[in-house]
Amino acid sequence: MTTVRDYYEVLGVSRDAESREIKKAYRRLAVEYHPDRNPNNPEAEEKFKEAAAAYAVLSDDDKRRQYDRFGHAGVGGGPQGFSGFDPSTFGDFSDILGDLFGFGGGRRRRGTRGQAGADLRYNLGLTFEEAAFGVSRTLRIPRLERCDGCDGSGAAPGTQPTPCGTCQGVGQVRFNQGFLTVARPCPQCRGEGSLIEDPCSECRGMKRVERERKIEVKIPPGVDTGARLRLTGEGEHGLHGGPSGDLYVVMQVEPHEHFERDGADVYSLLDASYPQLVFGTALEVETLHGTTPLEVPSGTQPGENFRLAGQGIPRLGGRGRGDHIVQIRLAVPSVGDLGDEEQDLLKSLAEVAGDPVREKRSVKDRVRDLFG
Ligand SMILES: [Zn+2]
Ligand SMILES: [Zn+2]
Repeated sequence: MTTVRDYYEVLGVSRDAESREIKKAYRRLAVEYHPDRNPNNPEAEEKFKEAAAAYAVLSDDDKRRQYDRFGHAGVGGGPQGFSGFDPSTFGDFSDILGDLFGFGGGRRRRGTRGQAGADLRYNLGLTFEEAAFGVSRTLRIPRLERCDGCDGSGAAPGTQPTPCGTCQGVGQVRFNQGFLTVARPCPQCRGEGSLIEDPCSECRGMKRVERERKIEVKIPPGVDTGARLRLTGEGEHGLHGGPSGDLYVVMQVEPHEHFERDGADVYSLLDASYPQLVFGTALEVETLHGTTPLEVPSGTQPGENFRLAGQGIPRLGGRGRGDHIVQIRLAVPSVGDLGDEEQDLLKSLAEVAGDPVREKRSVKDRVRDLFG
């Protein structure tokens, strides 16, 4: 049996650590235990994997919440309901969305020597209606972009980075270890392959600068909480010709005052009175698409459902709409809400039906009690 250490303990952060701290702690561990720096060291490899697993969970708001509530069971294997936070299915889902939006096909280029830009995540809050009908939004995304001052070279205008003499511009140095030749990032240029003597003043030689970028997104009708939209290449700029990261927009749909949602179906409650259920009646149902008449037949029971076909939420991808399901609720007034005539009639009904009810003393009776 393997025991799994507490993820917070693994990263050495407190349970209320901010995402920045978590990222920092993970980076530190990842560098320390990276297999390249610890060849043939199974213990370091284990630590490296452990830190990666902890980071995968604690860096994801939803997974972290699950983990805080349910521990490892909350983020372990096995089916986890709709939300699709399992990273293995996640890729597929966002590809589907990506294709839908025409951003599609965004397979990451592989095999380039450069360093890919980081993926970014944006949590987008939507009202119930916005999620149902779709909406356009302008997001403000702070991200690392290529520095214009130096065209991304890191060197001051008019100067060039000079090739690193230690690694001959390759960025890696090779050395023998036992029978193996191992490549490591060049310590002189830290894997860059070149040295900047006169750094660009705008990016201080970092080649990238942080900018807030406005990005228009079109959310299609029918998205639900947890749906992710991938905007290929809208993440952080890569380095050394590496591809830019992607931007993931993750939907969070607010609850509605009257409607509940299950996929494309909408649920609501509809009040009816006892006589209405006895005799049957025509009521009006508020749906997302306006008011719809509903025939309630005689003898309808409280809790009975009526399905209004096609009155629900548009299905993602334009494949029709879900249904609106309305559940009948019996509205029972308390005696104080009723006028004298209604009380008398109900009393008579109870007497005729032989249903004993509590006597409600009238004002007249109470006055008589008080003054004899
Ligand atoms: Zn620059
Ligand atoms: Zn070098």
